[in-house]
Amino acid sequence: EEKQLNDRTQRSKEMYERAQVHLSGGVASSYQLRDPWPIYLERGSGPRVWDVDGNEMWDFHNGFGSMVQGHAHPAIGAAIQERYSSGTHFAAPTEDAVVVGDELARRWGLPKWRFTNSGSESTMDAIRIARGTTGRETIVKIFGSYHGHHDGVMVSIGVEYDQIGDHENLASLPYGAGIPQAVVDLTIPVPFNDAGAMERRIERLTAEGRKPACVIMEAAMMNLGVVLPEPGYLEAVRDITRRHGIILIFDEVKTGLTIAPGGATEKWGVTPDLVTLAKALGGGTPIGAIGGTEAAMAAVEDGSVYQVGTYNGNPLGMAATRANLLEVLTPAAYEHLDGLNDRILTGCEAVIRKHNLPGYAVGVGSKGCVTFSPSKIVDYETFKANQDKDLSELAWLYNMNRGIFMTPGREEEWTLSVTHDDASVDAYVQVFEAMADDLMS
Ligand code: PMP
Repeated sequence: EEKQLNDRTQRSKEMYERAQVHLSGGVASSYQLRDPWPIYLERGSGPRVWDVDGNEMWDFHNGFGSMVQGHAHPAIGAAIQERYSSGTHFAAPTEDAVVVGDELARRWGLPKWRFTNSGSESTMDAIRIARGTTGRETIVKIFGSYHGHHDGVMVSIGVEYDQIGDHENLASLPYGAGIPQAVVDLTIPVPFNDAGAMERRIERLTAEGRKPACVIMEAAMMNLGVVLPEPGYLEAVRDITRRHGIILIFDEVKTGLTIAPGGATEKWGVTPDLVTLAKALGGGTPIGAIGGTEAAMAAVEDGSVYQVGTYNGNPLGMAATRANLLEVLTPAAYEHLDGLNDRILTGCEAVIRKHNLPGYAVGVGSKGCVTFSPSKIVDYETFKANQDKDLSELAWLYNMNRGIFMTPGREEEWTLSVTHDDASVDAYVQVFEAMADDLMS
């Protein structure tokens, strides 16, 4: 399978050789790397993408979940074109930002909003707001969760199994070089889906005079495939953070616009103090947002915390976001996505049972995956202990060789777009079945 993929991506190989001259590692971002070379894309339309070799694929990667509206959506294109002809950037507020703020407040039930240019900026600013509000420095995060590339959250992700540490005292480790130890020491990881362990850690930190400013977490982990919250877990976290006077941040950069109109907050009915958005928000333009309660955003409002950026709320992105929210990601769009996800998950589950594969299909909203593991994955520890790397890798190669564009690596999930239909999700299931047939024959 690997040889087949290499054979059909020879122009990507040439592009990679050319790119290596002036792009570090031949790519624009380390997450775009892949051995032996990355696949360079040329264009996308609706649910499809084409690579530089002319291979046509259904897109299930969708820009790490940013393109839930599909590629080159006409409504977003029209909004961008119109905005382009009347000026794209002033670093002054425009009406579209007001409209987007109103719509996000309605969807999340959180009254106050600000904008950024990425998920990383959103989580970085949210953590600063929490620190500024509480006057504390320590933060708690979920072990294994990714919240962006700033120092404070590049901690305890991508860790090897034998380095994870004791469940009640998980290791605080930098992800790569260049992250100051002083910053790492301020970030305390706790396991997902274990509210008891979170509370015990918070109590210990408080006793040590290091009470945390915030807990930052995804309501469903989206970088181990999909790991859903166990019933009652999010309510327990909400209760613990409230009782201890700690700000709860839901990082909805991935879940935000992809699983329900009001994201995980709406889906599971637990409202955090602060929420961070990006990815699918901007309709394919780099827009992030932070929303919060009056109390949590008071420090921004009174100016004690600076939440700033030249491109914050830039008119081009705001026009795209407005069209995306009001014209594309409508309630009907989420119904369509839920229906398609049901179909693909049911289809994959049937293949798993028929062929007796070690795994299960899991998803929510537009997101899902087949998790290759003999037992249920509930957190990073169980993921590292049980996930079958070889099967995950093979599934990716089967997809890429049969017209399904998927995220490289084993940690991501598919994201469906509003332009996908029964035929596109059936194609995914057929490729999965082809792999199962070959494996079991
Ligand atoms: N938070 C989460 C949950 C994410 O998945 C990501 C990106 N994968 C980020 C934050 C960072 O977003 P960005 O890459 O836009 O900086």
